[in-house]
Amino acid sequence: AGWIARIARAGAALPGGGVDWPGSWAGAALLLAATLAVVLVGRRLLGHPWWCAACGLLLALVVVQPPPLTRAVTGWPPPGWRLVMCDVGQGDALVLAAGEGTGVVVDAGPDPQLVDHCLRSLGISRIPLVVLTHFHADHVAGLPGVLRGRAVGAIETTGFEEPADQAAFVRRLAAARRIPVTRAAAGEQRRTGELSWQVVWPPPGPPPDSPPWPPPGTPPGVFPVHPPAPEGPNDASVAMLVRTAGLRLLLLGDMEPPAQRALARSPAAEALEGVDVLKVAHHGSAYQDPGLIRRAAPRLALISCGEGNSYGHPAPGTVAALRAGGAAVLRTDRDGALAVAGGGAELRVARD
Ligand SMILES: [Zn+2]
Repeated sequence: AGWIARIARAGAALPGGGVDWPGSWAGAALLLAATLAVVLVGRRLLGHPWWCAACGLLLALVVVQPPPLTRAVTGWPPPGWRLVMCDVGQGDALVLAAGEGTGVVVDAGPDPQLVDHCLRSLGISRIPLVVLTHFHADHVAGLPGVLRGRAVGAIETTGFEEPADQAAFVRRLAAARRIPVTRAAAGEQRRTGELSWQVVWPPPGPPPDSPPWPPPGTPPGVFPVHPPAPEGPNDASVAMLVRTAGLRLLLLGDMEPPAQRALARSPAAEALEGVDVLKVAHHGSAYQDPGLIRRAAPRLALISCGEGNSYGHPAPGTVAALRAGGAAVLRTDRDGALAVAGGGAELRVARD
């Protein structure tokens, strides 16, 4: 029976594997009418094998939705896309183009189906690296959907392993697939093909078994050698400055003002000036450091949040501050998935 379950799972994971059908009596009546139509038309078609074959092929295309075909029909993803912010509701999932069928994924969103659908629409089958900015469920719970049927080289996370159950969930999934898990720290630089990036946050922390810092009783004014542990998971978010096709993209995870201010004072601060694209921190919440927004001064600000979310994301004040700084602001709750294309002076955005 194992293979039946496997086929069912694979089938359900296909882009056209599910249909939203209305509920109640109206839905039932519609289902009856559709079934009758299929039976009546089907009986006529039985005498015409070519028509049967054509209908079968059409059904297969609707269910599988191969990326080259959907691109021709829907225009998604736009040619030459560099960054896609998936529409995963209230959460984050981003993809950085790293060659044909290849992408670096930053966060997995809250739902495996949604991120899997997004990666499928982009034709991504190889992922050299998944970066999980921090362990909140709206960034990691979708991980099974990222791993589904794809070759994944490594998973990189923040060193702050809270909430513990979500960190354990990520470790379990990685161990089951024998995917190495590493920790990101500021100063790390990486490159794959045309894509390169540097980790700008969090700073390399003390080893997990070290005593509390600063030690109790330290006199005031003694400069700590390493910064104190972050106050919560958001402030331990992995932040990245990405370079691709002459564009500079700043991805901030869910960093809050204390970490944002510390980032603006860190050795990486100079590199953050005047970026092309900003992944606005923490779904555009009200808590942003105005200094960091002014420094980054993005041309384009992208916000990932769910329609009608109960947190009030994004905050009108944050959107206004970004616009006042000269940024075009787009958000997944209104615009759907967003793709950044082009390079250098030419910056284009497309919506799915
Ligand atoms: Zn979040």
